[in-house]
Amino acid sequence: MRVPLMAGNWKMYKTAREAAEVIRALRADVADVADVDVVVCPPFTALAAALEAARGSRIAIGAQDCHWEKEGAFTGEVAAPMLADLGCRHAIVGHSERRQYFGETDATVDRKVEAVLAHGLTCIGCLGETLQEREAGQTLTVLERQLRGGFARHLTSARLVIAYEPVWAIGTGRTATPDQAQEAHTFLRGLVAEVAGGDAAARLRILCGGSVKPDNVAALMAQPDVDGGLVGGASLDPASFARIVKFRG
Ligand code: PEP
Repeated sequence: MRVPLMAGNWKMYKTAREAAEVIRALRADVADVADVDVVVCPPFTALAAALEAARGSRIAIGAQDCHWEKEGAFTGEVAAPMLADLGCRHAIVGHSERRQYFGETDATVDRKVEAVLAHGLTCIGCLGETLQEREAGQTLTVLERQLRGGFARHLTSARLVIAYEPVWAIGTGRTATPDQAQEAHTFLRGLVAEVAGGDAAARLRILCGGSVKPDNVAALMAQPDVDGGLVGGASLDPASFARIVKFRG
C-alpha cells in the first residue's frame, strides 16, 4: 500500500519570514491528517525558518535541488550532506525548470539522485515531456529516455519518488487529464518493473504535477497509479495546499 505524498514546490517564492508564516498556518490546517505524507520545498534561504516552523508537525521540509558532490569549489551550490545536516528530509531533482534554464541533463540528474539517496534524503525526481514532444507523439519515448538516463540505477531505493510533470502543464493552468496522467504513470511503473523488478515498481510512488489544484486533485488521485502530487503555485497558499493534502474530502 503506497502512502500518498503531497509535495509543495515553492520555487523562487517567499522570504524566511513568509515561509515560517505559511508553514505555521499549514501545520494547523493539516494537523488532523494522518494518512498523507506532506512535504514543503522552500528556497534554500528559507529552509531553516521552515524547519523551525514545522518542528514537531507532520510536515517534512525539502530542498528544490542540490549538487552531486558532497563539497567542493562549486560557487553558489548546496550539497546533499548540508541539507541533511540542516534537517531536510527530501530534495527535488531534475525539475523541468532546472532542465530548461540551468542545463540539467539526465546525466546530472543521475549523479544528483545518487548524492541525495547516499545522504539519507528522499529524492523527488522529476520527468515529463514538452508540448512539442507530446504533439509529435513522443511522450512515452521521452519518459523512457529520462527514466533510464536519470533514475535507472536508483529504482530499487525505497527513498526514491518519481514526479511525472508534463512541461506544458507546469504553471500554465493546463493540467494533464486523469487519463493522460494514468497512461504516463502506468507506462513508467511498467518500465520500472522491467528495469528493477516488480517489488520496486509496486513500491514506487509516482506523483503527478503540473497545475494541480484543489479542484482537480481528487480526480487525479482517483487514478490507480497516481500516488500524490508535486504542486507549485497552489502550494504557496496554506489553505489551498491543505485542501490538496485533504483530497479525500
Ligand atoms: C511544479 O513546480 O513542479 C509545478 C507543478 O508547478 P505548478 O503546480 O504551478 O504547475
